Amino acid sequence: MSLDPSSPFSADYFEARAKFLAAARDRNVKVASHLNPHAKGPKGEDLFIDIGTWGPDDAKVGLLTISGTHGVEGYAGSACQIGWLKSEDAANWPRHLKVVLVHALNPYGFAWNRRVNEENVDLNRNFLDHSAPYPANDGYNELKSAVAPIDLSTESLKRASELFRVYAKQHGAFALQEAVSKGQYTHPDGMYFGGTREQWSAGILRHVVRRELGRCGHVGVVDFHTGLGPYGYGELISEDAADTPAYRRARAWWGDTVRSTKAGESVSADVSGSVDSCIPRLLPHAEVTMTALEYGTYSTLEIFDALRADNWLHTRSDPLGSQAQQIKADIRCAFYPDRDDWKEMVWQRGEAVLAQAVAGLRKS
Ligand SMILES: [Zn+2]
Repeated sequence: MSLDPSSPFSADYFEARAKFLAAARDRNVKVASHLNPHAKGPKGEDLFIDIGTWGPDDAKVGLLTISGTHGVEGYAGSACQIGWLKSEDAANWPRHLKVVLVHALNPYGFAWNRRVNEENVDLNRNFLDHSAPYPANDGYNELKSAVAPIDLSTESLKRASELFRVYAKQHGAFALQEAVSKGQYTHPDGMYFGGTREQWSAGILRHVVRRELGRCGHVGVVDFHTGLGPYGYGELISEDAADTPAYRRARAWWGDTVRSTKAGESVSADVSGSVDSCIPRLLPHAEVTMTALEYGTYSTLEIFDALRADNWLHTRSDPLGSQAQQIKADIRCAFYPDRDDWKEMVWQRGEAVLAQAVAGLRKS
């Protein structure tokens, strides 16, 4: 069934949720909705993670897709899930396939156009053992005044740029990206903060993955993101090292466009506490083949500036105040270029990647 590529996209979290629920209803997909007990939307609305499940409970093969781990990045992932629900032909499926669609894992971030959640936590750095010492990030400590300055004055931003320039000159540009973005556990009002306890969304995901996919021998996972890489291009990011069976399976399913962060092949740094690192631990009896599908938008600098301003707005200013409108428009645009060409590229790539995952599961 062909689909108008812009039709599954939405203007905000609330429209995305309504479309997801309607598409699920049309396909008789069961949905369990989890109300966020800690946060509301900008107008006091309730916020939900919606979990669609499709297929038999005793399935041996599972497909998991996740949108909105990084809130504002959810526009693309939500559209791919909705488009897939509308157009997927279940006749292609392996027998006994269980499909689990996690819609808006971070509904607060999606609704407020933030990458982080209601506790300023980057969920994709939160999936680690909180009883063990956290990974150190000395580079972040060195750069913290530039990453999260006290104000956004021309003076402050100039000082920040100078600090970054010196760091990059000493250590290299990728080391700068790594220090800023790989995750930190010491500055709750900073960026890429991984939290100091398990977040509500993380607990829901753990529970759902174990309950819905715990009996499967083979599980494919596609976790949708945006913000890194060339405009509209979808990079397939693997966190597995290049000599592992999981990486080889990902390459067999999706081809040589799969890039490993461990091997330094990816646009992304090797991060700590990610969703993708956690899922195989939750499914010790399953062969898990997974990828983060990361769609490029604009330049890394534009993305960073938008994130930094948003961090300042929420930690040091008023997210509903006079400066909010511009900052919110900028961050939404940075992670969601609301343009037809971008949407078309996102949907076509998403549809192909999901079809390849189904084909890979059919052979497993
Ligand atoms: Zn992301």
